[in-house]
Amino acid sequence: MKRILVTNDDGVFSEGLKLLRKALLEVADVTVVAPDREQSASGHSLTLDRPLRMRKLEEAVYSVDGTPTDCVNLAVKWLMKDDPPDMIVSGINFGCNLGDDVTYSGTVSATFEGTLMGIPSVAFSQEVGEHFSFEGAARFAGRLLGLLVTKKLPRDLLLNVNVPVGEATGVSLARLGRRVYKQSVVEKFDPRGRRYFWIAGSPAWQEDAGTDFEAVANGRISITPLHLDLTDYRGLDSYEWLRSELDGEPSGS
Ligand code: MN
Repeated sequence: MKRILVTNDDGVFSEGLKLLRKALLEVADVTVVAPDREQSASGHSLTLDRPLRMRKLEEAVYSVDGTPTDCVNLAVKWLMKDDPPDMIVSGINFGCNLGDDVTYSGTVSATFEGTLMGIPSVAFSQEVGEHFSFEGAARFAGRLLGLLVTKKLPRDLLLNVNVPVGEATGVSLARLGRRVYKQSVVEKFDPRGRRYFWIAGSPAWQEDAGTDFEAVANGRISITPLHLDLTDYRGLDSYEWLRSELDGEPSGS
């Protein structure tokens, strides 16, 4: 049986993680290593300035007092190092991780870390709204992983899956949507007259066809294949003028 490492950013006691684990136990041998508390929006951060503790909660379920990326490292490089996982699955996150938001997401960042280690990885997120439930997303995760575990997968397989609230009407392969940047910083003063800030603002999206945002807005499950090569390949041509100005006399002497 294939071995799957399950993690998340909502914490080891979250409902989404419990249902994901249950669904994946049908198709694989599952080990859970997840943060001991919520770590949403922790991005791809790694804890280097303090020791990390791992606790065994039950058979094949562990918590770590760190980020999702810490969990993947402790699991792959220590706990499972003699028999590493075939896949890493993260989620099911409480709330979507669409478009530009994937860079903030601890859920998706755990799969970035998996990919950097050469382990095929999938992230699942569930839209929040009326009639909210993780059940549909958990069933879908079981079906999707049931298919993937039968295949020889590329080491850089990285899928970001978002499930709409309510009954899904289909499945779309979708590109990342773009945020309409409405984030704002609210300035306030505490009782001692000192300034503090809240990062605020409601999410809004460009209504582009073919995006993950559009798929979920239309009640469809979106699957977005991602890769971590952030190179802007167009830039290798379009900044040639800059290189030719600077080359030859690099220090400008
Ligand atoms: Mn979360």
